[in-house]
Amino acid sequence: MAGKILVIEDEPDLAMGLKDNLEFEGYDVFIAHNGEDGLELAAREEPHCVLLDIMLPGMDGFETCHALRKNNVRSPILMLTALSAEVDKVKGLDLGADDYITKPFSIKELVARIRAALRRYEPTPAPRKRRKLTIGKATILLDKSIIEMEGREIPLGHYETQILTMLSQNPGEIIDRQHLLSEIWGLDNEPMNRSVDNHIVSLRRKIEDDPKKPRHIITVHGFGYKIVK
Ligand code: CA
Repeated sequence: MAGKILVIEDEPDLAMGLKDNLEFEGYDVFIAHNGEDGLELAAREEPHCVLLDIMLPGMDGFETCHALRKNNVRSPILMLTALSAEVDKVKGLDLGADDYITKPFSIKELVARIRAALRRYEPTPAPRKRRKLTIGKATILLDKSIIEMEGREIPLGHYETQILTMLSQNPGEIIDRQHLLSEIWGLDNEPMNRSVDNHIVSLRRKIEDDPKKPRHIITVHGFGYKIVK
């Protein structure tokens, strides 16, 4: 079995089209037409990946994303959006989403993104030492994918947790951007290159006092990133 995918999409034709195509690719597909049903299905089926439309009746995709993470859904969340504005992308990442796919998209592109997401997702990670990281005022619980900061809990997406894990393994050292891309997203994903940058922006908004003047997640132009605790 290739994996279970939950599709939260209110347009019946699009939802059915996705179901047919993804089943053809070997996935088990569950459909919810609104956020509330999506939350229920996520709890019941424990999908390996969630495709989440933004414009939904009732709870929108952003609220649904936030609620999924609050409910301890750790699977990669790929947001489906007709909005391509950068600000919306970062908003979803703030709430714990992992990736964006702008409508209209090809099934080929979608399947490539799902594969990349699933490759890095371990549904039942082996028990290990609790991984905890302190950056500035933020305490990052890598195993729980949350940031604790000033009495608040901020959800981290799957990719963001991976990025922080990689950066924190060698604090102060520069991690090559291409290395992050190949380790986290898989090789040869040229169209997804901006994903790293979007996630870095989102992480800064979560961790930095002034995300425009980052002091902890530093860009080293032409090379990559480093973490300064
Ligand atoms: Ca919709």
